[in-house]
Amino acid sequence: MASLSKKAMTKIGFKRFIPQIDIGDKKSWFWRHGVELPEIFVPLWQLLVNETLLAEVSSKGLHDFLGFNGRIFLSMVMPDELIDRLRLENYFRLINELRPDATMTLDNYTYVDDPLFLSWSQTVKLVSLANDFLKLDVPLIGLVKGANPLQIDWAIRKQVEMGYVSFAMPARELFEDNLLEDLLPGAIMSLQWVSKKTKTSFELLIYGVGRRLKYRGLSYSNLSWFLEAKQGHYVKGGKLYSFKDPEIRFEECTCEACGGMMPQELIDLMLSDKELGLKTLALHNLLDVNEALTRGR
Ligand SMILES: [Zn+2]
Repeated sequence: MASLSKKAMTKIGFKRFIPQIDIGDKKSWFWRHGVELPEIFVPLWQLLVNETLLAEVSSKGLHDFLGFNGRIFLSMVMPDELIDRLRLENYFRLINELRPDATMTLDNYTYVDDPLFLSWSQTVKLVSLANDFLKLDVPLIGLVKGANPLQIDWAIRKQVEMGYVSFAMPARELFEDNLLEDLLPGAIMSLQWVSKKTKTSFELLIYGVGRRLKYRGLSYSNLSWFLEAKQGHYVKGGKLYSFKDPEIRFEECTCEACGGMMPQELIDLMLSDKELGLKTLALHNLLDVNEALTRGR
């Protein structure tokens, strides 16, 4: 690996919860429906699989296209089969056209069950890409990735050497495979250790997990609020319920989306006006998740 460059960076200053949106589905554009939250994540892969959308968004930039006045962060976490779709210089050109307020560095392939030499070569690649991204004139979010605690620790330290102070940990698959508990505590310890050593403070965002974890001081970003609504799921107190669960079905909700409606009335609304019902449920879920992840920090 070529020697690493260095750049002075300041923390992005993540909110506790940053909703992801689906750029191809306006029902997830919550600001158009009267809910105000200051930051969003837009997953780049949603554009890579839709050429028409990609052309339109890159000609306008994310802010104009979405009509969103808050900060827009670009997520580079994507399905493995898309990672190599563009060459690095094309990613850079695209990021410059999209003009996000910050971008993650490029995702890589990491499997905890890969042979070690493969996962190490991916970890080296992750660090090397983080180095390449220093050329961009956009605030950067480093990635916390690796197949084991040693790789994660090394990747964090190298990125810190380059000046990275804000990190995201792509955690959806780890969470689903019950591996997050094995890797997250080590990542937090590495950040604490390097923070002490360099007298710098860092921030860590858990990307892709809809539930609050037991560790303090984390930020979260996910699309669960929207995906669960599409499945007819209702979130209450950060917990997931079926719409029809008698435990919550007849309890009024005072959030600004429901305005006193109970889940039963949301069901009725869906039957008479599916779009409006789904939109209301999604906004309710968004407000509930935001409340659950923000409360008591
Ligand atoms: Zn509600």
